[in-house]
Amino acid sequence: MSNLSLPGMSGSRADLEALWMPFTANRQFKSDPRMLVSAEGMYYTSDDGRQVLDSCAGLWCVNAGHGRRQITEAVSQQIVELDYAPPFQMGHPKAFEFANRLIKHTPGDLNHVFFTNSGSESAETALKIALAYHRLRGDSGRQKMIGRERGYHGVNFGGISVGGIANNRKSFGSLVSGVDHLPHTLNINLNAFTKGLPEHGVELADALESIITLHDASNIAAVIVEPMAGSGGVIMPPQGYLKRLREITEKHGILLIFDEVITGFGRIGEAFASTHWGVTPDMITAAKGLTNGAVPMGAVFISEKIHQTFMQGPENAIELFHGYTYSGHPVAAAAGLATLDIYEQENLFQKAIQMEDLFAEALHTLKDLPGVIDIRNSGLVAAIEFAPDDNAPGARGYRIFREAYDKGVLVRGTGDILAMSPPLIIEPKHVDQLVSTLEHAIKTKS
Ligand code: PMP
Repeated sequence: MSNLSLPGMSGSRADLEALWMPFTANRQFKSDPRMLVSAEGMYYTSDDGRQVLDSCAGLWCVNAGHGRRQITEAVSQQIVELDYAPPFQMGHPKAFEFANRLIKHTPGDLNHVFFTNSGSESAETALKIALAYHRLRGDSGRQKMIGRERGYHGVNFGGISVGGIANNRKSFGSLVSGVDHLPHTLNINLNAFTKGLPEHGVELADALESIITLHDASNIAAVIVEPMAGSGGVIMPPQGYLKRLREITEKHGILLIFDEVITGFGRIGEAFASTHWGVTPDMITAAKGLTNGAVPMGAVFISEKIHQTFMQGPENAIELFHGYTYSGHPVAAAAGLATLDIYEQENLFQKAIQMEDLFAEALHTLKDLPGVIDIRNSGLVAAIEFAPDDNAPGARGYRIFREAYDKGVLVRGTGDILAMSPPLIIEPKHVDQLVSTLEHAIKTKS
């Protein structure tokens, strides 16, 4: 075990027991802990003093790279100036300023922002707005939601109900009722080793018509999908698929929500994947890159049509009975503003487009290595999928993840899929390091 340098602790395994780690095999981790103690640019430093290339932007969030002083300074200044202000029936300038700056980057007429503290809360907020919207219009039968298999919308009850990852659902009872799911769009048989958007699979969007027929459009409030399903395995939308979803939802008066918690803020190119792929939903959920991961914050971007519907009642009436103690928190808003300054000044939303080909070509050189069954990518996000070991799904992925980490590269391992979503400041030399390390790890551990 590494020499844990935990202040006031003995450095033994017992020191690790108090913390129950999220989405982690706690006992496995605690018998073989991996601690990150500082970070700068593209690299973490581990507690044993090694430089580790961060090929995941933390957890799909540190899009401008680590340790950005502009953000640090904005945060510390803000805490001194105004540490907190209540967001209900009171305002503070930073939240309004951040909202105004953000809507310069949103597609279509998504000109209104509701702040949350995480991606999970953004999903809940968007789903609740969808329900309340239909009710306000006298269409209160519209209560069902449609998600997608392998979709991830956070871990709260609404999110796991519309989400399609079995492990995240199966222990938690009957969930929110009235939810149905579209099929996911991963088809390795037809689309293996596609660079960019898969050619096959647009017809999977037509399953929405069947679901609508089954439940009747008058009962359906919203469809929620990630334009690119991240946590479910980096699954790109087939060509034409998102457009088809938009056409079908529009035809039936159903709201379309894109969960851009991962794809937002430059991951695919442009601020939002919606813009890059030319499809405007009715709401977008975001978090992660919103503050470069430095301070927790989420947001929902809402169309003019939806917002207007809420702004019709008596002027002294609260329009939406929903919100969080920390909605639009001044410190998070300050971090977000500084983050947006960096994205704009360094033109980072264009980076995924500029680097896409180099990143893709380099990764696809791994295609003939043992066990590799697919490599897929778009912008600055990619995944390598491995054939599972007999009787031990996930074991091969974990071995390769672990070897890469030991050799100085952090990738995101989920089962037999390794995902990469590097900070948008990545340079060709980092791509070389990533790919050569993965090549070694796959050759030795696959
Ligand atoms: N939606 C998507 C698409 C996500 O990828 C995530 C997080 N990985 C979430 C929602 C949940 O975000 P959080 O963990 O901040 O609640």
